[in-house]
Amino acid sequence: MNGLGIIRGLWVTFKHFILTYIEDIRAGKKRYYTQEGILARTRSDVRGAFTIQYPEEKYPVPEEFRYIPFLVYEEGENREKNYRCTSCGICAKVCPPQCIWIVRTTDPNTGKPIPAPAEFYIDVDICMNCGLCAEYCPFDAIKMDHDYEIASYNRFADHIFNKERLGKPLSYYAQIRPQNFAREEAARKAELEAKAARKPAAT
Ligand code: SF4
Ligand code: SF4
Repeated sequence: MNGLGIIRGLWVTFKHFILTYIEDIRAGKKRYYTQEGILARTRSDVRGAFTIQYPEEKYPVPEEFRYIPFLVYEEGENREKNYRCTSCGICAKVCPPQCIWIVRTTDPNTGKPIPAPAEFYIDVDICMNCGLCAEYCPFDAIKMDHDYEIASYNRFADHIFNKERLGKPLSYYAQIRPQNFAREEAARKAELEAKAARKPAAT
């Protein structure tokens, strides 16, 4: 029947409208100002519309949420940052708006390239959060962050992130993306075991 889709759509909107009042009256302030209330609102069966009282309240983001990328580093014995990035340049090549710049390290004596970034910049105002850089990086060296609170008035000083600003420890990655981290670590371990099994035994 002509117009049936419109009527159905209006019914859904009307239901949300009514349920918003019913749920607000039923749960009272609990729905808005408690951790329990925030968590209840993230469920897929949540009833009615609601307002997030940002910045006092923050909606928890799902694991696959992606914002600006960050560079993963592993901490060495003396807490030095060992970036996983090899400055291969793949992420910069695949980045659709071309907002990644990398300067490769060179050996000061020979001038030969060293597989590590001397500089790494991302213009975060141009980044479109597509995640392709993280998708294509062969070394799991760049990952998509959950931190979306980066607003500032200073476009150039604050929004061109350098290597230091982009760097975050592996433990942070494990914390925000536990399932991805566990899957990658399992794959890494399996690869190492397969490599060890292929090695001929020493005689
Ligand atoms: S982040 Fe990954 S893809 Fe980008 S330069 Fe570094 S190693 Fe290569
Ligand atoms: S998320 Fe997309 S736009 Fe942003 S730096 Fe990575 S590839 Fe470029």
